[in-house]
This record gives sequence, C-alpha cells and structure tokens, in this order.
Amino acid sequence: MMKKYYIITYGCQMNFSDLERIASVLEDISYKPASKMDEANLIVVNMCSVRQSAVDRVYGQVKNFLKLKRRNPKLKTLLTGCVLKSDLRKFKEKFDYILSIKSLPHWKKFLKKDKYFYYPILRGSTSLLRLNLNRLDCAYLKTQPKYRTKFSAYVPIIIGCNNFCTYCVVPYTRGQEISRPAKDILKEIKDLAKKGYKEIWLLGENVNSYKSQNTKIAIGGTYGNFNITNFAKLLKMINKIPGDFWIRFTSSHPKDFSDELIRTIAECEKVTKYISLPIQSGDNEILKEMNRPYIVKDYKNLVKKIRKKIPNVTLSTDIIVGFLGETKKQFENTIKLLKAIKPDMAYIAQYSPRPGTAAAKMKDSVSHQEKERRDKVLTEVLKKTALENNKKYIGKMVEVLPEYERKDWLIGKTREYKTIKFKPVNKKLIGKFVKVKVTNAIPWGLKGKLVKKRG
Ligand code: SF4
Repeated sequence: MMKKYYIITYGCQMNFSDLERIASVLEDISYKPASKMDEANLIVVNMCSVRQSAVDRVYGQVKNFLKLKRRNPKLKTLLTGCVLKSDLRKFKEKFDYILSIKSLPHWKKFLKKDKYFYYPILRGSTSLLRLNLNRLDCAYLKTQPKYRTKFSAYVPIIIGCNNFCTYCVVPYTRGQEISRPAKDILKEIKDLAKKGYKEIWLLGENVNSYKSQNTKIAIGGTYGNFNITNFAKLLKMINKIPGDFWIRFTSSHPKDFSDELIRTIAECEKVTKYISLPIQSGDNEILKEMNRPYIVKDYKNLVKKIRKKIPNVTLSTDIIVGFLGETKKQFENTIKLLKAIKPDMAYIAQYSPRPGTAAAKMKDSVSHQEKERRDKVLTEVLKKTALENNKKYIGKMVEVLPEYERKDWLIGKTREYKTIKFKPVNKKLIGKFVKVKVTNAIPWGLKGKLVKKRG
C-alpha cells in the first residue's frame, strides 16, 4: 500500500520553511503527499506556541485524529515545531511520535519504530534545555527542502533567539541563536537563482544578529572573504549572486539595525526596500517591562534615518496591545507613535500570557474586551496611515511578482511588498516579474492594470 503523509502547519514563515524540509525527508522514505487528511497514513502537526489560539487548534486536531484512527487503526500522528514544555507533557499520550525539528535528519530512523519521543526540551531546566537544543545545532537545515513554489523560496539563515522578550516563547521553544554557515546559505541561493527563482526570503527570528565565521566563497567572479560575516555582509554577498531575483528578509530587531545595514539595503539593488521593524509598544515603561532594550525616541530616530537613506522604503511594525497592566495613557502613547511613524502595515496582537515566559508570572490585568477595543482603535489608525501611503502609488508603474489567480484577478506582491490585484488575468504570468500600472488604492492593497512583462 502506498504510504501518504499530510502536514498541518501553524505559525510563522520559519515553520512553513520547516514544512518544506519535513516533506522532503518523508518523500525520501517513500511517502507521497496526500491531498486530504483522511487519505494519509501519517499526519504531521507542525505546531506554533506563540499564541494560545494556535495551541488550542492542535487540541482540536487531536479530537479529529481519534475519529480518523477509529476508521484507520494504522494511522500514525507526529507532533513537531515550537512546542512548550508544559504542552509536550500533555501531548505525549496523544501522538505516536513527538520529534524535535532539529532531529529531522534522524526521522527516518525514528519512524521505523511504532512510537518515538525525541524532544531534548524535557530533560531539564530552562538553561539545560537551551544547551540541549544547541547541541543539535542547525544541521537539519542541510536537508534539501521541497520548495512550496517554483518562484519563491524561504531560506533560513539563523534559528533561535537570545533576546528573551518577557512575553515570548521563542527562546524556550527554538533555543539560542545559531547562525547557519554563510557558505551553505550562498550555495542554496545560487542553486535557486540558477533554477530561476524570483523571490528569496531570508528567515530568522532575528536576522540582524546573524553571524557566521570564516567565510570565503566565490560569487559572481569575485570573492567574499570576511572573518565574521554579519547580516549586512551576507546581504552584499547574496546581492552579487548572478540572476534576476528579489531578496527579502524577516524579522528585524530595532536594537540591531545598524547604519551599515541601512547603507547595504539602500545600495544593494536586489534587496527589496521592505523593512519589518517590530516596535511592540509606544510606551517606554511597557517596552522596559517587555525587555525591549530601546526607547520610543530611539525607534523614531531609527525610522527617520531609514527613511532618509531609503526614501521609497515600505515599513511595517508589530504591536502588542494590553500587555500586562498597560494603562489607557500608555496605550495612547502607542497611538501617538503609530500616527507619527505612519507605517504601511502593522501586525497588531492582543497580549495573551504564554506559559513559561517571565510575563506569565505577572498579572494580566487588562480585560479581553479592553484588548479588543484597543486592537480596533489601532486598526483604525493603521487604516488611515496605510491608505495615505498606498495612495502615493496611484498612477505609478510598479514591479510585481504575481502569485495566484482569484476571482478573475491576478494577485501578487509589488517589489515594495504591497499586495496588488490586477487584470487581465493570464495564469502564465504567475511567478514571472511584470509591470503593473496602479489605478486604485485601499488600506490593505493596490489595484492595477497589467502593462507588460518586465523586460
Ligand atoms: S526578539 Fe523577542 S519577540 Fe522576537 S523572537 Fe526573540 S524573544 Fe521573541
């Protein structure tokens, strides 16, 4: 009987990138992708623990698996991804396999058993946990991914995080920062460029703290030779790789956004001028409580500097509303900040305590209704700043990478990472650069008319 797998992924781009490597490992041991969950012999849940809602969805899936197992007793289930220690214990009896993503190169061996548990996280305290995860380092990234498209690829460059923002589980689930060797990254991107990929996403929880040692590699006839390759140097090296492609990256921490990096983004033609720069709050006391090591004035100055050096930059930010005892006045400061920096986009989240984090030990005193209200207020402010920014594109020609077709429109992203829909529809253009004239703007995107394939 043919073995089939089905992967359910929650969370960020890093998890979606891991999915591509999981698929590749499973196909290497003769599994084929199933189009529906109930056709699969193996269901993989690639979990995210950043919000409780994502965790609750996994509990929901567990109920579905029980029903499916009644119909197909041979069905196996596997849990991986970002899982908190407390959830691992609860899930231990509910999945056949619980495997750390960092152990991916060994899955072939683990899946020969009927059940297997490999998650170094449970071995000890928080500090031991980090050491244990680090021992496995980022070797799993050497697995050749099965990319989700033929034109856009995720390339992880650093995994883990050392910042310990008080609300965040990432340092506990992903471990400490480990940078992938620059030579591996450059090789992967050279291969992608040769295959004609148009969009390369450099991924990491904090790409700005990327550091790789002793890189010496030939790129486009010249050599990059640096004792320490930081993120700016890595961007310059990727920029030199021959090919017609865009370089995007996420996520950035304001504390590590150096002048060298700003200059590099401005100078490198393949690096798109889209920067995601999470502020999280517009109030200094809240930032301190969050363990974010900057103040609002620093952030505003950084934005000013970026806009001066990269005039056409698209800026997005992340904000958490209702963090711990955020007062109305502190929330007003976030509104003021948003109005001042006028971002193109902001990802607004309502604070929810995550077990194991420092903030979870403190009282979450802002009510759910009040968080909802603050979310809505900020969204209204954002709608105005986003529309104001988007209107500037009306009448202009933009470069677009079409991604899919929906309801008689081709939909894609502009070089500046604006969502755009345009006509006429020609599916052959999906995954190819085109030029589109912008005819209309709304807060969350642009509308336009195809002008030509990019020459
Ligand atoms: S920088 Fe802060 S929010 Fe981002 S992954 Fe690290 S700990 Fe989490």
